[in-house]
Amino acid sequence: MDTVHQHTDKSKDNESQMKFNWKLQPILPDEYTRLPSLEKSFIGILKDKKNISKVIVDLTNSLPTPQHLKRCSGLRIYLAYVNKVNGSQTNLKALLVENGFDISLLEDDYEIADIPSVAPRTKAQMTYALKYWPVNFHPNPYVEALISGSVFNDAQLRSLETYMKIAICIAEKSAVGTKDCNGSAIIVDPVNGNILSMAASSIDKHPMWHASMLAIDLVARLQGGGSWNLFNNAKDGTKIVESKYHNRMFPYYPECLNTKDSFPSESLLFKKPDQKNKNLKKKIDSKYEPYLCTGYWAILLQEPCPLCAMALLHSRVSRIFYGLSNPQTGILGSQAILHSIPGLNHRYQVWSSLLLDTCRKTLEKCRWIDGS
Ligand SMILES: [Zn+2]
Repeated sequence: MDTVHQHTDKSKDNESQMKFNWKLQPILPDEYTRLPSLEKSFIGILKDKKNISKVIVDLTNSLPTPQHLKRCSGLRIYLAYVNKVNGSQTNLKALLVENGFDISLLEDDYEIADIPSVAPRTKAQMTYALKYWPVNFHPNPYVEALISGSVFNDAQLRSLETYMKIAICIAEKSAVGTKDCNGSAIIVDPVNGNILSMAASSIDKHPMWHASMLAIDLVARLQGGGSWNLFNNAKDGTKIVESKYHNRMFPYYPECLNTKDSFPSESLLFKKPDQKNKNLKKKIDSKYEPYLCTGYWAILLQEPCPLCAMALLHSRVSRIFYGLSNPQTGILGSQAILHSIPGLNHRYQVWSSLLLDTCRKTLEKCRWIDGS
């Protein structure tokens, strides 16, 4: 599908490139990224400019324009989509006359032109649409910030990079998956920066032990739940071990991750909680029992498969950041955009390309079970 070349601020881009050799890409629904579709439309040419107000008023009563279109482009007047009058100029004239419009105000022959058939959602789409016809547009500042990449500050980007470096270490040490799903997952609390759980794909031990599935189950374990008895179930006696990495306790799986030697040291990870956020969270927590991963962020080596993406959705993480696309089975950008499907009872926001090149090299080094 054609996509709009996203507008970016060159100077900001260059500045960012100096600090990071990767750039987060928001995974947005098609309606924000595709080129606005066009539809053949009849355009009338006004004979005398002084009649423009009368023509606009009279047409508003007989043939209203779609809300996103302006009526005029100079002396050219939007009349109707060609399909609406079965492609016939004669039908259109009959309709206009029937509605009391004086067709002698327009040149006898109508033009047929491509006109945007949907409202632009972004500045880039608006720029494209304007090449064809004047449109009404109300920018959404948050969407524009997502597209330009300005939604995160440098400290947040640095933290995300560090989380992903840990995910990369985890995957290199332990991930065993299939061509459909492999890699590692970390779940963090963005309010205080703490890691809550981390896991590597362990599909050799159980078909459902994808990295995200395990990471979510470990958070559930922190809350007194959890679906799998990882202590007793593992054939090799693997146990969940609570890590004391940076003097913080969190569960992870499998046990071979029980070393901090190769993990990056990063004070940003465990920064002092922002008092304002901490108080807000306390207030929310005291009012509503938080459900599983509500408000947490997931950092994944690879775009999740349908099983993992749905588990993350049900767990209610608020944001997902992944490194590498999963063209085979990924449904957060590759095969589908799950979070844009109507009717879901929860939506997360998604970004790709976090440390993309390193993630690609790491996945190549991961282990794969036979047959994939
Ligand atoms: Zn998966």
